[in-house]
Amino acid sequence: MGFSDFHGNPATVDLVRGMLARDRFPHAVIISGPEGSGKYTLAQMIAKAMNCQNPPLTGEPDFCGHCENCLEIAQADDLEARFAEAVEARENLRETDKKETRIFVQTHSDVLIIPPDPPQMMIKVDQVRHVIGQMYRRPRKGDLAVYIFTDSAFMKEAANSLLKVLEEPPEFATLFLLTTNPGEFLPTIRSRCITVTLAPLSAGEVEQYLAKKRPDWTGSTRGLVSRLCGGAIGKAGAFDLDRYTAARKDALTLLGAAVGNEDHSPLFRTTESYRAGAEGKDKTEQLIRAAYSVLEDLLFIKEGTPQLVRNTDIAPELNRLAAGLSFEWITLAAQRLHEVETGMRRNVLRSLSLDSFATSLER
Ligand SMILES: [Zn+2]
Repeated sequence: MGFSDFHGNPATVDLVRGMLARDRFPHAVIISGPEGSGKYTLAQMIAKAMNCQNPPLTGEPDFCGHCENCLEIAQADDLEARFAEAVEARENLRETDKKETRIFVQTHSDVLIIPPDPPQMMIKVDQVRHVIGQMYRRPRKGDLAVYIFTDSAFMKEAANSLLKVLEEPPEFATLFLLTTNPGEFLPTIRSRCITVTLAPLSAGEVEQYLAKKRPDWTGSTRGLVSRLCGGAIGKAGAFDLDRYTAARKDALTLLGAAVGNEDHSPLFRTTESYRAGAEGKDKTEQLIRAAYSVLEDLLFIKEGTPQLVRNTDIAPELNRLAAGLSFEWITLAAQRLHEVETGMRRNVLRSLSLDSFATSLER
């Protein structure tokens, strides 16, 4: 238990531990890295190391994982579950209270987690105001209070408030700002933070992790999943291969219809199964993700870099498909797919939008 459980990016972890070893840890840290690279896990580990009651006495700073503080903070390790609980609790409030309640996750009195607030999924000004209200109070249990903003999508007013906090942070508070794209922050925010970067993991590193985490999977499943999740170790352990394969099958039907299957009935049968509502939305998102992945692989094949292909289990099918397609067509398909994705956010009827995606690409 400790930083040794963090997978990948050893140099970055060493850097962070070196920062912890010095007297003053920076007050504002941007942790940047692709989805699933461990940004939140790293922030949680730092919060534990800052508050651990029983840290190992030798070596670089670490945490025990067993003391009261470590255990309380660890209750928020499963952010998705805690977030869902917080959203559900808000749903159960009276209408008037609902409007004024913002989503937070807090399992330890000195560690506050600020996720983007639904339905817009952005950090809102009331959330930042709440942080400001808390952060000038001394931490209750330790010397340092930790605030983790899990996303860089800030409403404008919220970003401006955050900037004020960063101008004069109290000495006993540390803020973490997690992002897949540090360019999303105002330059004035970035300049007040130290940026720590996590690189995506190689498929080999993810496969090593899966060998420990998922001994129940076959070697070839672990190999395939480590390629499919593109270095996102956070997603790999819970990757639902059956679900992905089903979505990919539909994506191939869609693309197949576009490249000249005269008979459109398989296309319409497929798109008809994409209905309105939350379930349909989820299914469509899966389909879009799978379609992007297939298009990307087609580009790799076209560019002469087939070793980068992720969907290795269907390589012959991809090669066949790629042979009949031009580079321009694949790029156009990716653009159209992006339009479907944007339309989805505006609630354009799903099956129609998928049909027109396929038919608009017909040659
Ligand atoms: Zn501890």
